[in-house]
Amino acid sequence: MMILVGTRDSNIKNGTILKEKCPKCNIENTLHFSIYRRYTHLTLIPLFPVGKLVFVHCSHCKETFDYEDLSENIQLKLRNEKLNTTPWMFLGSIILVAFIVFSINKYFDKKNETSTLIKNPIEGDVYNLKFSNGYYSNMRIDKVTKDSVYTTHNDFDAYMPYEIDDLDKPENFSDQKVYYSRRDILNLYHEDEIIKIIRKPKNFTFTN
Ligand SMILES: [Zn+2]
Repeated sequence: MMILVGTRDSNIKNGTILKEKCPKCNIENTLHFSIYRRYTHLTLIPLFPVGKLVFVHCSHCKETFDYEDLSENIQLKLRNEKLNTTPWMFLGSIILVAFIVFSINKYFDKKNETSTLIKNPIEGDVYNLKFSNGYYSNMRIDKVTKDSVYTTHNDFDAYMPYEIDDLDKPENFSDQKVYYSRRDILNLYHEDEIIKIIRKPKNFTFTN
């Protein structure tokens, strides 16, 4: 997806500056203003407002004025214009915050799930591992007894954590049989060497 970042201006108010004279033609009540609010957007979803722009022109002599060129009094009147709030300009920020909160929740749900599953290994679970040498791999639980857990380690290692799940194919678990005490398994989890547990649906059977 291409992400476009930019700014846009939205016209939020127009009106006349009352009881003030045009700096050029000196006629009263001819100055008209348009106020725009500038906002940043991400692929056209507004993120947040970043500032205001004001355009002033005289309906009599047709001159346009920069804010800085107007008298103190006129500037003050412009600043005192009541502007409506524009919460929609924060839409993207709200989405981003919601997304971050959602991701964090999901992360902790996963962590919680792992901390529950680790206490009760069952045949067919796949444990993702992080080795002290920095590589990643996984192991499959083959058999669980009262105090031991029998596993087959994956024949392959991964260099990146996101590659581990791709290693989880039946043909990659051949002959590296390793067994642990249940206490060993818990220790590996507490030392962050077991980083994720994938529990297959119940009726899933291996053909190994
Ligand atoms: Zn004028």
